Amino acid sequence: MIIFGTSSSTIAPQKLDNGICPHCGTQNNMWVQGYKKYVHVFWIPFFPIGKKVYTVCGHCKGAFEKREIQNQELLNSFEDFKKNKIKTPWYHFIGLILLAFAIVFVSIMPYLANNN
Ligand SMILES: [Zn+2]
Repeated sequence: MIIFGTSSSTIAPQKLDNGICPHCGTQNNMWVQGYKKYVHVFWIPFFPIGKKVYTVCGHCKGAFEKREIQNQELLNSFEDFKKNKIKTPWYHFIGLILLAFAIVFVSIMPYLANNN
């Protein structure tokens, strides 16, 4: 029986350089946080399937998704953050890496055996 499913890891909150809260109008107190989802097999992360990122106001604690951001400046730094600051950790691919090693090992096995 193969046990697989999806799991997620949280992205550490980071403060944006600028931005105004769409709700309370507080300046320069916007944070970005979110989580990344990945598929696991036997609890080993296999490959990432996406991420959810949103902004949180440090003042009113309101959370806003991308489509709720009206302010262009905030949207720009949000997009920049999403594109450049959030890297998929290598261990989200560890299942694929192990699988690749297994395939290579299995395919070179006959040659190793024939050498004797
Ligand atoms: Zn706010």
